Amino acid sequence: MRRIAVAKGDGIGPEIMDAVLKIFYEAKVPLEYVTVDIGKWVFDKGFNTGMTPEARQTIETLGILFKGPMETPKGKGVKSINVTARKTWNTYANTRTFQTLHGVDTVFSKAGIPIDITVVRENIEDTYGGIEHMITNDVAISRRIITRPGSMQVIKYAFEMARKKKARRITCAHKANIMKITDGLFLEVFQEVAKDYPDLKADDVIVDDLCMKLVTKPDTFDVIVLTNLQGDIVSDLCAGLIGGLGFAPSANIGDHICIFEAVHGTAPDIAGKNIANPTALLLSGIGMLRHLGLMESATMIENALLYTLEQGVHTGDFGNKSISAVNTTQFAEAITSNF
Ligand code: NAD
Repeated sequence: MRRIAVAKGDGIGPEIMDAVLKIFYEAKVPLEYVTVDIGKWVFDKGFNTGMTPEARQTIETLGILFKGPMETPKGKGVKSINVTARKTWNTYANTRTFQTLHGVDTVFSKAGIPIDITVVRENIEDTYGGIEHMITNDVAISRRIITRPGSMQVIKYAFEMARKKKARRITCAHKANIMKITDGLFLEVFQEVAKDYPDLKADDVIVDDLCMKLVTKPDTFDVIVLTNLQGDIVSDLCAGLIGGLGFAPSANIGDHICIFEAVHGTAPDIAGKNIANPTALLLSGIGMLRHLGLMESATMIENALLYTLEQGVHTGDFGNKSISAVNTTQFAEAITSNF
């Protein structure tokens, strides 16, 4: 049986991962799970990368990490384990899918405006290098790194993915009017790669204009490719369009290792209460099953999830307050009862 590495994560991570693995178990997904030690608690034990050497070796052998969210302290403190993992294994493309889900009421679904947007975010470069320092007590600087090979690999991936998705449009969002050299390079690579894909409508938009257009005409976008930080911010905006972070899955794609996780973080405000929405992690897991060629399991679980949402069963984080919310465990049980 295929083995994958699993890390439950911090905050709401263990609650939503347990719910998802229970659903996988009930669906008889043919996978074996190897728990690996990664997370804030591993930092706290003195491992300065946030993962044990054994965990690293296991992930490199198995090639797939299914992970819950992991905490990064704000301001001073340890480096983000999420960023370290993406860099260590060169998972250069972060794909995040935002789709209208029936039963999840939003202003757009109520107006009959369907949303199906995939954000492809460059995952390694930009300001995420953490190259920051104080020049004087009053001046801090950060280095932003954008490279041609780094841009090339994520942009090529985005075009290939757009072709597979039969996308109508692929858009590069940037701020090349101000950051003429860094975002200018990213845009230049996009325009170069676009020439090899004459079947796709490729265009570009300035990122602030993109934010306005996403809110006013979200159905006109299909695949959007961006640099790391802008991609992170735009993703959360897109999550808001389809009902919130509880519904936004993601995958970190590399040539050798892929990491599947939700877009959201550890949600410390609701951790430990068994009320978090496991949908985003479940959708990430469904994407992982498809990546592994486990199409039957993926479709069975996806159909049960969609049917459950259509039935109006939901956790307390979104929309229709006239229907009472269920907790994380009950939501997972409702899904398995629909197999
Ligand atoms: P967050 O995504 O954890 O939470 C933002 C808001 O969304 C909160 O109100 C939270 O309750 C809600 N929310 C998020 N996921 C939810 C879910 N599944 N169900 C219901 N509500 C949900 O963002 P944050 O508070 O800015 O970050 C908290 C921590 O998570 C930080 O340490 C941050 O670094 C980390 N983080 C980790 C990842 C990751 O592991 N990939 C991603 C983002 C943030």
